[in-house]
Amino acid sequence: QPSIVFENVVFGYEPDRRILKGLSFAVPAGQNFAVVGPSGAGKSTLARLLFRFYDPQEGRILIDGQDIAGVTQESLRAAIGIVPQDSVLFNDTIGYNIGYGRGDSTQEDVLSAARGAALMGLIDRLPQGFDTEVGERGLKLSGGEKQRVAIARTLVKNPPILLLDEATSALDTRTEQDILATLHRVSENRTSLSIAHRLSTIADSDRILVLNEGRLSESGTHAELLRHD
Ligand code: ADP
Ligand code: ADP
Repeated sequence: QPSIVFENVVFGYEPDRRILKGLSFAVPAGQNFAVVGPSGAGKSTLARLLFRFYDPQEGRILIDGQDIAGVTQESLRAAIGIVPQDSVLFNDTIGYNIGYGRGDSTQEDVLSAARGAALMGLIDRLPQGFDTEVGERGLKLSGGEKQRVAIARTLVKNPPILLLDEATSALDTRTEQDILATLHRVSENRTSLSIAHRLSTIADSDRILVLNEGRLSESGTHAELLRHD
């Protein structure tokens, strides 16, 4: 698995307003890190830089030791599986949605890949089978069900890096706990960065980075951060 390094990253959407003000951190290969911080701190911005939707004005971002300034968005998308808060699904079957992006694999292939990736815990909670239509033409899935499909779609491709951007924060607590358990299991052998606004959802992280006004104000394990409060 690759490591992720931010080295003195400075970035602003407008030239005279910096959002990230010299951000440095390193996620060692295979570890699960989390980023918390108040709204507006720059958490989503950090995620966008990782995909090169924008490039930093100063500093560098390295994945597996390689400066991503020389890496295409396409290869970054292949290396990093992202689960956003509100995923958009296609008006097609659950199987199509989960298999999307794996080339022209059959439903059978998708299902067996899902089994291989230990995703059945996500999928067999879906009330109707793999062939059920997701969108407007068919069944309307609940927010939690949609998110399960979206997470499965990301994980079935086995991305070496997992980026969870408030992946469960729109869900009710019970659904959230359920999905977090699966995410925790599949993150174990991956490098992951989990953006969150509640500490309780990232208690299992190897390390939590606290972002404040574009800088790291603190970092530590869940227990260490609670001790400081
Ligand atoms: P967080 O995810 O921590 O809530 P964001 O990274 O979304 O923070 O936003 C950080 C700051 O950047 C905010 O002040 C926000 O208004 C600003 N911002 C975010 N996206 C844009 C954009 N596309 N253009 C201009 N400013 C933006
Ligand atoms: P959850 O209970 O997982 O948080 P939501 O609150 O998003 O789910 O959805 C509640 C109900 O609304 C679901 O049972 C679902 O049937 C319905 N629903 C969700 N999304 C849509 C949609 N886009 N159109 C119509 N109904 C929807």
